[in-house]
Amino acid sequence: MLGLMQDWPLLIHRVIDHAGAQFGTREVVSRSVEGPVHRTTYADVRARALKVAQRLERDGIVNGDRVATLAWNTWRHLEAWYGITGVGAIYHTINPRLFPEQIVWIANHAQDRVVMTDLTFIPLLEAIADKLPSVERYIVFTDAAHMPATKLKNAVAYEDWLNEADGDFRWAEFDEKTAAGLCYTSGTTGNPKGVLYSHRSNVLHSLSLANPDCFGLSSRSVILPVVPLFHANSWSLAFSAPMYGAKMVMPGMRLDGASIYEMLETEKVTMAAGVPTVWLMLLQYMAKEKKKLSTVERMLIGGSACPRAMIEAFQIEHGIDVVHAWGMTEMSPVGTCGAVKAQFADLKGDALIDLKSKQGFAFFGVEMKITDDSGKSLPWDGKTFGSLKVAGFAVTRGYYGVDNTGLLDDDGFFDTGDVATIDANGYMQITDRSKDVIKSGGEWISSIDLENLAVGHPDVAEAAVIGIAHPRWDERPLLVVVPKEGRVIDRDSVLRYMEGRIAKWWMPDDVQVVAEIPHTATGKINKLKLRDDFKAYKLPTT
Ligand code: AMP
Repeated sequence: MLGLMQDWPLLIHRVIDHAGAQFGTREVVSRSVEGPVHRTTYADVRARALKVAQRLERDGIVNGDRVATLAWNTWRHLEAWYGITGVGAIYHTINPRLFPEQIVWIANHAQDRVVMTDLTFIPLLEAIADKLPSVERYIVFTDAAHMPATKLKNAVAYEDWLNEADGDFRWAEFDEKTAAGLCYTSGTTGNPKGVLYSHRSNVLHSLSLANPDCFGLSSRSVILPVVPLFHANSWSLAFSAPMYGAKMVMPGMRLDGASIYEMLETEKVTMAAGVPTVWLMLLQYMAKEKKKLSTVERMLIGGSACPRAMIEAFQIEHGIDVVHAWGMTEMSPVGTCGAVKAQFADLKGDALIDLKSKQGFAFFGVEMKITDDSGKSLPWDGKTFGSLKVAGFAVTRGYYGVDNTGLLDDDGFFDTGDVATIDANGYMQITDRSKDVIKSGGEWISSIDLENLAVGHPDVAEAAVIGIAHPRWDERPLLVVVPKEGRVIDRDSVLRYMEGRIAKWWMPDDVQVVAEIPHTATGKINKLKLRDDFKAYKLPTT
């Protein structure tokens, strides 16, 4: 027997309808690409998203079409996502930090029909446009006054294009499993792979991760997503913030410490979300200028392991609660958050920082397991490492346009490619990417643990550890460090600092100081490039 409740499909435009109805005056504040700070409301975002949908429909965009966005976090980008999905089309986010050839590859694979972009990226697109035959039109997020002359096909200023619609439009109706968003992962090997979100997965994921133990969003929250809309589905914030009525503060293209600090203070931000590299810039800026944050209560940090020293700095020096989160593009993207469960409510000092250094526990809708190489589940004892596998309503079951045979295991779990432990309380801790773990004498050394420890040294700004071939041990760890501004790193002092804090056989065989560690387009340490940089290097111990 079926229940007798309404069939109310979980469609994304219902989120902005709700925000418009319940939180209509709640603001979306952006640093515009043209310069000035721009203010709008959810009621207006909704009204203009309806125009985007109407206008796209008039341009012949239909259910299933891909509309690319290559743009910073601003109100226009947000409206565009709702407008695109409101006709049943698919927002395809492109990361502008990718190499031009990768962008060409991705846009061709997706067969994008329209590209929506910022002024910043016109030169980039002009250089590759003749390699993008599927694109029929370029819409530039600006107004007539700022629109430059461009040879991009059918280029139009967004505001002019939008003004041709009156907004008298009804959202399209379709099944909740309809595709809504497409985001390619920056695979370190092979071609990028497209993760295809549905309306249902986006709505459920946003509903669930906004819970108090994870993002903890409410109509009193003011959230600054430093995480771009083009990274991993914006960590859901394009949906979860309006869904819960949180004011959004969009930083645009200025992500340096001073600019972010200014936005956090002037807009009275209560929580911010981003990768550790961005927070490092903010912490360095605040240390140098002797500044404190007056309204921020919670920092959502993820995308790569949050170093212990960073958690300490926020928690202890600044009194800001750190929520360490883990996930991946394939998971919509959040999987775990590191809140404090009831049994740990009294933890203080180092013990609390230890807990917060873990990547946290799964919220409703995410199931996790760790397995050995044969696929057998391993115990949740906080010590045993295994391949981390996940299942849930917002986890991928296949990449777009490729053969997905064997992607999931027999129980429908997706292999994240991460190696992790899970403790008896359900807290997961990432040990490494499976391809980055250092194999020494048949045992594994976690590069992440070593990196986190090294950045606790007062002269070290950033650290990366890679395995270097060793005739006896197979691989041994090499620590690569970047000094803090104005500091000089003494190799022996770093090693002395690490001694006693880790097992003896985990100690790096050498320390190399560099001016910069390479990063990927999503801000993670680019170990592939780093290994390449050090391919001629020989350990002193060999
Ligand atoms: P992406 O799909 O680009 O977001 O990359 C996902 C990968 O980033 C994960 O599989 C992890 O390897 C890594 N990652 C994300 N968050 C964390 C975290 N909090 N700690 C360690 N690694 C992380």
